Amino acid sequence: MTTQLADTVALLRELVAFPTISEVSNLDMIAYLGHRLESCGARVDIFHDEIGHKANLFATIGPETDGGIVLSGHSDVVPVAEQDWTHDPFEVVEEGGRLYGRGTCDMKGFIATAVSMAPLLADRARTRPVHFAFTYDEEVGCLGGQALVQSLEARGIRPAVAIVGEPTMMRLIEGHKGCYEYTTHFTGLAGHGSAPSRGVNAVEYAVRYLNRLLELKEALRARAPDSSRFDPPWTTINTGSIHGGVAHNVIASNATIEWEMRPVQAADARFVKEDLRRYCEEMLLPRMRKIHPEANITTETIGEVDGLEPTTENEARDIVMELTGVDTAELVPFGTEAGLFQASGMSAVVCGPGSIEQAHKPDEFISLEQVQNCIDMLWRLGDKLDA
Ligand SMILES: [Zn+2]
Repeated sequence: MTTQLADTVALLRELVAFPTISEVSNLDMIAYLGHRLESCGARVDIFHDEIGHKANLFATIGPETDGGIVLSGHSDVVPVAEQDWTHDPFEVVEEGGRLYGRGTCDMKGFIATAVSMAPLLADRARTRPVHFAFTYDEEVGCLGGQALVQSLEARGIRPAVAIVGEPTMMRLIEGHKGCYEYTTHFTGLAGHGSAPSRGVNAVEYAVRYLNRLLELKEALRARAPDSSRFDPPWTTINTGSIHGGVAHNVIASNATIEWEMRPVQAADARFVKEDLRRYCEEMLLPRMRKIHPEANITTETIGEVDGLEPTTENEARDIVMELTGVDTAELVPFGTEAGLFQASGMSAVVCGPGSIEQAHKPDEFISLEQVQNCIDMLWRLGDKLDA
């Protein structure tokens, strides 16, 4: 094992030992990473969430200029409850060239590699800064990523490139759909089933809304970009659940629809939201409120994770191709924080060690070979910063 690989594995052991499941605080791990980065000369900012329970870390090595390269990873991991693990999930076990433990591939393996390479990158980042962005709550809707992008914008920090190290087996990913989840609540007026016109039937309005969703679902097929390589190529809408009412003979006063859309382009999401807003304001609500002024339709946003749109020009893609020797860029079905970086003006790709096949599962692992491949990529990044 090379010293660099041994260092990375040692750091990964320490990171896995912080049980940073999304519902608990990540502050200890963030503080630890902050110290490690400071010790090699990085300027470290820690941005807390509103209640100070979790934090994002953003660190810079090299010159204080725009146009830097961000190495990004989320600090949280998914739960281990109800999973059948062979070993303690928060203690790395090495066996047969693999490192087992929660978060080894998703995605503390990448974070450990980036931080263990920081001293080398610090020596070589002369003309272009390298940033480290470690976020909270990615697994529960990219909440930390959204806050981080806002913090950077507020401080006028403008990196140019983001490499998100989610597990792709070091394949280069230039696109994924977004994932927007909503719960729409309908409030009507209860009454006796024999006099429907005296109440406002929330279930019946929910059905009208659902019909509109079905019409939009069709309209979205026609909006698919010609060049779309997604499967399917268009933005999809799915209705996941519908609930409402209490009994045969009672006018339903409440109904709820849980639905999602997976946009291939941000414009589709705006199109759907704007259409639904107008449909409710102009068609449904006036009819409901004629009977009952308090009737209402409200949509709760569960999460809006931006997609990563493949673009013709993409510096992040060019850089990662150069660093890895990979010559094709692919699309994946899962969401990442890359779309957030892209939306804030950076070029972004996903490329990291380990396989998404192992993510979120019991006996999650990363192979030493994958960690080494990631070390090699960052080694070449050092050459590039030196040039
Ligand atoms: Zn992940």
